[in-house]
Amino acid sequence: MLKLLFFLFLLFLFVTLYSFKKRVDNILDAIFPKKHAPNSSKHPEELVQCATCGVYLPKHAAVKKIKFNGEIVYFCSVECKKNYKKG
Ligand SMILES: [Zn+2]
Repeated sequence: MLKLLFFLFLLFLFVTLYSFKKRVDNILDAIFPKKHAPNSSKHPEELVQCATCGVYLPKHAAVKKIKFNGEIVYFCSVECKKNYKKG
C-alpha cells in the first residue's frame, strides 16, 4: 500500500513539475521571444490550394485569378491557370 502511495506521489510530483515547467516556458517566451523560431504562430504563411491540381502552396507563390463573381482562385503555375480555363 505504501508503495502505491509513493508511486502516486511521484506521479503527482511529475505532473506538477511538468505544468510548472510549461508555465515558466511561457513566461520566458513572453519576456524573451524566440527570434529563431521558424514557424512563428503570429505570422504563419497562409497556404492556398491550386484549383486545378489540388497542390498546396504558399499564398505569395500562387498564381491568382479573380473570377467574375469576386471569388479568388489560386493556381500553382500559369499552366494550371490555363488548364482551369479549359475545364
Ligand atoms: Zn496546379
